[in-house]
Amino acid sequence: MKIAELFNIKKSLFSFEIFPPKRGTALLDSPESAQRLDETLSALVNLNPDYISVTYGAGGFLNQDEPTIKVAKRLKSKFNVEPMAHVTGIYSTKSDIDNFLEVLRQEDISNILALRGDANPERKPLDTFPYAVDLIKYIGRENDFGISAACYPEGHINAMSLEQDILYLKEKVDTGAEHLISQLFFDNEYFYYFMDRVRAKGISVPVEAGIMPVVNKNQIERMISLCGAKLPTKFRRILDKFGDNQEALQDAGIAYAVDQIVDLIAQGVQGIHLYTMNNPIIANKISDSIKSIRTGM
Ligand code: FAD
Repeated sequence: MKIAELFNIKKSLFSFEIFPPKRGTALLDSPESAQRLDETLSALVNLNPDYISVTYGAGGFLNQDEPTIKVAKRLKSKFNVEPMAHVTGIYSTKSDIDNFLEVLRQEDISNILALRGDANPERKPLDTFPYAVDLIKYIGRENDFGISAACYPEGHINAMSLEQDILYLKEKVDTGAEHLISQLFFDNEYFYYFMDRVRAKGISVPVEAGIMPVVNKNQIERMISLCGAKLPTKFRRILDKFGDNQEALQDAGIAYAVDQIVDLIAQGVQGIHLYTMNNPIIANKISDSIKSIRTGM
């Protein structure tokens, strides 16, 4: 089922993002690695997400051996969960994307998160799909996939302004994106302001809020430098106080994420997209803390 159609059945979704094992690693090629992956998938699936999205490392091969496709296929065939395959256009040719779409059709995977991707400083981008909108247009020609796109409550890190970024977002939606997932943020007020601007511009598709539980100081510092999300003072204090105590930071990071989620649901958010970092224990703690709240979603 296309993700956008899920919103005809449920007011609000609870979904996960995972990353596949790196290209070139054993992945599913040995029974041990397949079992490890299955244990993670199974633990996440037990938390009943509406779908699970699988990230894509730019510069992949977009055939059956692409880790994103292998994991998405496994989610569908073995765990009976709706997968969403991420794909980036920045280093893709038309024939790469054609192959990718063909494999997804064969595997009966009907949801794609269509992204531009980030340029690698050592590699010149191709000019076939310079922006996500170009990829969305190309994928949308036959109307057989549900297309989702990324959005940025604080504006994309390279955007001239939030307003300009939202105008480009509208182009993505007008071209065929039927559902949006936000980048992580740590201050819900950015999300609410963004949603007001998005709706004012006539973008009416469902938007899920991306939430990342912070459980590791280095992880968050790297993430912030890549995506530019701002850390509120309340969060900085948590990092200053518990940053060097792994266990305490994990508890505080989970509590912070739960607090964000409760507030978002109380405000009527259309979905929570949890960046799980492939950690079912943390996803479980969060899921458990909002169990009764989820039933009202
Ligand atoms: P675009 O929508 O193309 O926007 C990129 C920039 O260009 C923005 O600054 C925008 O304002 C500007 N822009 C957009 N359209 C135009 C236009 N027509 N003319 C001029 N400027 C324009 N990366 C990965 O490599 N793999 C992943 O799996 C992955 N998953 C992600 C999942 C989510 C939910 C999010 C939020 C991001 C993800 N990313 C992933 C990161 C993403 O690839 C980067 O943020 C990338 O820099 C932008 O991708 P985009 O699709 O939003 O680009």
